Amino acid sequence: MKDDNCIFCKIANGEIPSKTIYEDDMFRAILDLGPAAKGHALLLPKDHYADLFALPDETAAAAIVTAKKIAAGMKEKLGADGFNLVQNNGEVAGQTVFHFHLHMIPRYQTDGQKIGWVPGKPSQEELEETRAQICD
Ligand code: AMP
Ligand code: ZN
Repeated sequence: MKDDNCIFCKIANGEIPSKTIYEDDMFRAILDLGPAAKGHALLLPKDHYADLFALPDETAAAAIVTAKKIAAGMKEKLGADGFNLVQNNGEVAGQTVFHFHLHMIPRYQTDGQKIGWVPGKPSQEELEETRAQICD
């Protein structure tokens, strides 16, 4: 399934050129045009799924295995010191392109980037309330 109005569908299927670093039947991995660090890449399924929740289990499972393989190669070739996998779902979470993608970000001691959040300080009661909301 492709979406004619989706730029990542066109890139994943080779209709728009990209700096491809990996390709198989299910995925294409491309260099991000606005990299957080050298080698920042996006793993794109060739079929269109808007986000994680739309992704079939089989594709989700294959994505992490494929990302692991690509990340290991990049870490070695680029001499990265660490690695972030980031995946945004929904505008509020920072998603700007609504075709599922996994950010693969090599990290370097000197890259000066911060990928994270401001930690909250919930009480034990608040944590319990949240746990119950999720599980009960
Ligand atoms: P997100 O904010 O998680 O939806 O990530 C979208 C990412 O896609 C951003 O990091 C953009 O820099 C990147 N991006 C957008 N358009 C392109 C493109 N044509 N080629 C490569 N990367 C792109
Ligand atoms: Zn798409």
